[in-house]
Amino acid sequence: MSFIDNLMQKYNSSAKITCKKCNFEETIGNLEQHDYICSNCGNYYRLDARARIKLVTDRNSFKELDKGLISKDFLEFPNYQEKLEKTRHDTNEDDAVVCGTCFIADNECALFVMNSKFIMASMGSVVGEKITRLFEYATEHQLPVVGFTASGGARMQEGVISLMQMAKVSGAVKQHSNAGLLYITVLTDPTTGGVTASFAMQGDIILAEPKALVGFAGRRVVEQTTKSKLPDNFQKAEFLLEHGFIDAIVPRPEMRDVLAELLMMHQGGAKA
Ligand SMILES: [Zn+2]
Repeated sequence: MSFIDNLMQKYNSSAKITCKKCNFEETIGNLEQHDYICSNCGNYYRLDARARIKLVTDRNSFKELDKGLISKDFLEFPNYQEKLEKTRHDTNEDDAVVCGTCFIADNECALFVMNSKFIMASMGSVVGEKITRLFEYATEHQLPVVGFTASGGARMQEGVISLMQMAKVSGAVKQHSNAGLLYITVLTDPTTGGVTASFAMQGDIILAEPKALVGFAGRRVVEQTTKSKLPDNFQKAEFLLEHGFIDAIVPRPEMRDVLAELLMMHQGGAKA
């Protein structure tokens, strides 16, 4: 269930929602019609995985894989178990990524979508395992992979196990690449830490949503380390595009068509 669906269940489509950037009020129904972009200032609302899937995939084409994997509190980290249980209950999701196969304008692909509503989409053992399995599935079935990233970084409650996920996913990405298959990443707000340092930046084609925050360490840490004043748009998608880290910034209403075109252009993959 998407966050808008959740809101609709609680209220209804004529209930108002207020933009955090400009305080403009509009109905939830109106916001949904405009791809969750503020009608007044153009602010992009953050989407959960289900809303994103609904926006980019062909109707009813998404088939979920590896549902039901849940994290263990193997370090017995204070309050982690309770936090997991509460977040699972609040979001109705098992963890911070949803994986599966789908069609985007009739182009079949494997898809993963990270969910910033789940502990800031931090990367723990389940996130790493599910994305790894998705790449292995895609390699076996000769499918391209499209991945929407969002993350606060590694999940500290899982310590070194969460850091290991970077290498594990990267191995599966490499095998997929060796098979001649396409991998497209879409960086959404915010994509940071270990996710940026691994699979978010390993796409053959790297897209981003406008103004998305993308970085490794936080701005203050970089300023202190380099002892320099950073420009205002530092770590924004536009800054990354200027400096060659990403290939294109794609507005949300065009995302589905751009992905479809890229998938169509690369059809054939290993067999071509
Ligand atoms: Zn606004």
